[in-house]
Formats: sequence, C-alpha cells, structure tokens
Amino acid sequence: MHNKSINQLAKSLRAGEFSSVELTQSFLARIKQHQALNCFITVTENVALENAQRADAKIANGDTGLLTGIPIAQKDIFCTQGIKTTCGSKMLDNFIAPYDATIVTQLNEAGAVMLGKLNMDEFAMGSSNETSFYGAVKNPWQTDSVPGGSSGGSAAAVAARLSVCATGTDTGGSIRQPAAHCGITGLKPTYGRVSRYGMIAYASSLDQGGPMARSAEDAAILLQAMAGFDNKDSTSVDRPVPDYQAGLANSIEGLKIGLPKEFFGEGLSASVGAIIEKAVEEYRKMGAVIKEISMPNLKLAIPAYYVIAPAECSANLSRFDGVRFGYRCETPKDLTDLYTRSRGEGFGKEVKRRILMGTYALSAGYYDAYYIKAQKIRRLISEDFKKALADVDVIMGPVTPSTAFGIGEKIGNPIEMYLSDIYTIAINLAGLPAMSIPAGFAEGKPVGLQVIGNYFTEDRLLNIAHQYQQATDWHQQIPKGFE
Ligand code: GLN
Repeated sequence: MHNKSINQLAKSLRAGEFSSVELTQSFLARIKQHQALNCFITVTENVALENAQRADAKIANGDTGLLTGIPIAQKDIFCTQGIKTTCGSKMLDNFIAPYDATIVTQLNEAGAVMLGKLNMDEFAMGSSNETSFYGAVKNPWQTDSVPGGSSGGSAAAVAARLSVCATGTDTGGSIRQPAAHCGITGLKPTYGRVSRYGMIAYASSLDQGGPMARSAEDAAILLQAMAGFDNKDSTSVDRPVPDYQAGLANSIEGLKIGLPKEFFGEGLSASVGAIIEKAVEEYRKMGAVIKEISMPNLKLAIPAYYVIAPAECSANLSRFDGVRFGYRCETPKDLTDLYTRSRGEGFGKEVKRRILMGTYALSAGYYDAYYIKAQKIRRLISEDFKKALADVDVIMGPVTPSTAFGIGEKIGNPIEMYLSDIYTIAINLAGLPAMSIPAGFAEGKPVGLQVIGNYFTEDRLLNIAHQYQQATDWHQQIPKGFE
C-alpha cells in the first residue's frame, strides 16, 4: 500500500480495502525499519494514530476529501503546536511552538495524518542536509551520498516510501535540489502563493513552502491544500487558487520551451546534460517547440544570493538571543555573555558563517557595495526572466550540475557547496515557480529536469510535469531495498 498514489489511496480507504489506521501503522513501521536514513527528527506516533482513527470515522461518515487519512510528514521548519519544532538546530532543540503554521493547519483540516517532523539543514542553510544538528540524512538511492538539502529529510522520506508525501521549503533550491537527488517531484510555488506564517524564517524575501511528492498528480493534490491567501502573512497573495488536478490532462501540443544556453555550459556534468537533452526531446515528441534563449545575468545569481540571503538571515536569526526562544547557555556572567554564548553554542558552523557574512554586508560602509549592488543584480535577473518568458511558455534545464555527491565530499568547502545551487537560485531571486521532475539516472542516481514558469502558473507546470510522467516511468522507480 505504500506505493500507491494519493488518488489510489483515497479510493482504497473508501472501498474499505484498508483503514487509515492500518495505512498509518504500515508507514510508522517503515520509518522504524529504515531509521538509518535519519529522515525524521521527531516521529509523532501517538498523534498520528489518533488522527488516523479520526480520519477513519470521517470516511465512514461519507467524507470525500482526497487527503483524509493520508499519511504525510512536515519539514521541521513548520511550527507544530505542542510538538517539537527544531529547524535542524541545537538552538531550537527544546522548542515547542504554541501554534501551528498555516500550512500545518491547512493539511490537518484537509484530514492528512502527520507522521512526524523531517530532518533538514540547520535553519534551511545548506545543499546536502549535512548541517543539521541531528546529523546527515542518507540518500536512499546510494546511502553514502547526500539527499540534497535543505529539505533532505523530506525528499529521502518520500523516495524511500516512509511517507506518501511531504512539505518542503525553498529559499534557493531546497525543494527542487533534494527532489532531483532523490528522484521525486518537487514544486517551489510562486513567492506568496503558499503562506509562510509559522514557517521559521531564513531569508524572508526568498522563502517559499511547497509540496514534495512522488508524482505531479500527488503534488497537485498537496498544493491544493496548501495554496491560498493568509491574512497572517503579509506577503501572501490574495488571488484565486485554481483546481490543480483539473488541468493535468491538458495537451501540451505547441508548448514553447526555452533552453537558456547558460544552463548548459561549463560546470554541467556530461551525464546530467545528456539526460536533460533526452527529456527535452521527449517534450518535442509530445508536440512542444524548442527554442534556445540566453539569460546573460544568470551567472550573477550565486554572488547576489549569497549576499541577500545571509543579509536577511542575519536579521531574522537575531531573535535567537537566549532569552526568548530555545537554547540558553549555562550560568551566564552577564547579559552580553548570555547573548554571545547562547548564540555561539546554539548555532552551528554554517549558520554562524551566514550570520557573519550577512552582518558584514549590511554594515555601514559596505551596505552600498554589497547589499544594494546585490539587489540591483536581483532586478537584472528578474528582467532576464521577464524577457524570456514573454517569448516562451516555460524554461527548462537541469536542477543540479551533477548527481548527488558523497557525504562529506563538499562540507569542508562552502564555495563548492554553494555552486551546487547554480541552476535553482535565480528562480528564487525572481520569485517564480519551478519544478523538479525525475528524468533519468546517471551513475545509478536520479537526475531532475527543471521546469520554470511565469508567476502563478503552477497549474501549467503541474500539467507539463504530469504529461511527461504519462510518457515516462522515471518517477515510478523505487530505490533498492525500499520497494
Ligand atoms: N542551498 C541554499 C542555501 O544554502 C538554498 C537553501 C534553501 O533553499 N533553503 O542557502
């Protein structure tokens, strides 16, 4: 039952083939069996079983919600009332939120059964899930490789069938990059499409939550529950939410695809490049029209992002002062000692590096040279996308320059680690929606195809992904040992 889609599960639950309690128990057992992957920080067994019981009662009473009784898991960046929310950090190791994030409320109200909280890079800073205070997550396709990050726990859990689907967040690629490395389908929605209320902030002008699932169809169902206006989030956009499943079957005949030549240049591994070309060819066969385009400012995305994101994180993380939330050092001498030691002991290395970079970029004298300049580049990158998307419907390319790298391989070299986000970061700077779709395997590890669309075209992206998944079976492959 753990290989069924959400639609299939919903049908089985209603046909009485099994109950939500049985389904939940089976996933809880798999989580225990595959603990070595380290996907979960907290497993909420009792709450899950209670909610599954409630879902069964609802189904017996004629409830028709597709997510009712479906086991899901939440990235541990989303606040959950009464349940520990750590954000992958020692700083929040003892933090129990007094309220639910909006998307947690939405998914609870949709009847989904939360299995637990998923491992992630500390405060979502990372591309490998190795910066977590709770240890690295392993990639189920090759357990000595990283699952990608920061939503590495989410991607590995979905790929290993430890949950039907999961939530993730994407500030510079954290939904798409781990989705690509684990062979699942991930969607980073348009900035403002999904509420950020109760989602612990990393870089507020870039952060966006979204679905991580085994197929575009499952992602559509999950996004349906998550998307929409939230008056508790001032950046959430008040705009109707389309029916994401309704358009999945639409033809993509005549779809105009742009391939930026900057996505296929130096740095892209030959094996990944070949798979992306094959995927694009598949679209051509389905009636799409391919056009080479150029986006000259893309190469500036990494330097701009690594000024803006640390700048925003240095402001956001100033709230962790040892007084209000989470970790406090032992026997502080005075207030300054309390602040400095609580932060020094509570934050990990990468988080401290980002806070230092951000504070530096925002300091008087350097503000214009770094922060303002980065904002100007951000505008240029958005303009590149605007121009490109006036001419083509979507942009395609790789998600990552190579397949999943080895655990420990890049953690000592931050610049090399940052470069693994080279194809994902610009999309966040522009606030656009984008997906990662399983497109093949190289060196035995999954490769993701990236599809980038115009603002609020999540329905079209899901349609484009679904059509590919009707023609291919990459998304149905299961890592060995997790069948
Ligand atoms: N890898 C990028 C970073 O470290 C993006 C992370 C993310 O999207 N949360 O900042």
